Amino acid sequence: MTTVIPGHCPVCETRTEFRSTDGWFRDHLRCAACDSIPRERAFAWALDRFRPNWRELAIHESSPAPARRVSARLREGCKHYIASQYFPGVASGKIHQGMRCENLESLSFKDASLDLHLHLDVMEHVNRPDLCFREMARTLRAGGAAIFTTPLYAERAASARRAIRFADGDEHLAPPEYHGNPVDDQGALVTFHYGQDFSDLIRAWAPDLSLLRLDLNDARIGVIGEFRDVFIAVKGMI
Ligand SMILES: [Zn+2]
Repeated sequence: MTTVIPGHCPVCETRTEFRSTDGWFRDHLRCAACDSIPRERAFAWALDRFRPNWRELAIHESSPAPARRVSARLREGCKHYIASQYFPGVASGKIHQGMRCENLESLSFKDASLDLHLHLDVMEHVNRPDLCFREMARTLRAGGAAIFTTPLYAERAASARRAIRFADGDEHLAPPEYHGNPVDDQGALVTFHYGQDFSDLIRAWAPDLSLLRLDLNDARIGVIGEFRDVFIAVKGMI
C-alpha cells in the first residue's frame, strides 16, 4: 500500500506530495519533487525557523551526502559554507580525495570562528561525543549553534555505548549496527544509542551550550514517523 500525503517540503520549498510504499517512514517517506526524507525536512525546517539568515552565516557541515538536496541547498545558498568528511588517519584541515577532512573530536577551526555546525545523523557514529560537543562549543561564536539530527531512543532512560573505536580495530559492546556512509562503502558503525539523558550529557560535556530538542510531528511538512528529533545547541543562552 502506498501512503501519499500532500504538503509543503521545507527542503525544496515546493508544494508536493510525500510518498512511501514502506511503513518505516524514517527512510521511505520521500518528497516527490526532491526525494527528501523526514529528518532532512525537519532539519531544514528548524534551520529556516531558528537561523533564517543562514545564507549569510559561516557554516560548517560535517559529513554531507553530496547528492542529497538538503546539503546541496546549503552549498548553493550559503556564501560561507564549508563541508567536511572524516577520514581516519588524516589531520583535520587537510584535503583528502578532494574533500576537506575534519574530525569533530579535534577540529582545525579557530576559536569562535563559525556561526553554525550542521550535521545529519553523525553523532551516533562518533567515538567521543564529549570531545565533539566541546569542539563545537569552542569554534562557535557567541550565539552560534549546532543544529543536527541523531536518533534518540525515547524509551531508553540512559544513553548506551554500543562500540568503541580503537586505532587497531573496534570493540563491540552490542551487536554491530552500520548506517550508510558517503565516503566509506563499509558503512558507519553506530557507537551510541542516545536516550532521555542526552540533553543532560551535552550540558555536562559542554556547559557553554544550551540545548533545545524539537520533537516535530507535522504531516503538512512531511515530518512524521520514527526518530524525527532535531537538536539545537546554542552557545550561550537561548
Ligand atoms: Zn522536496
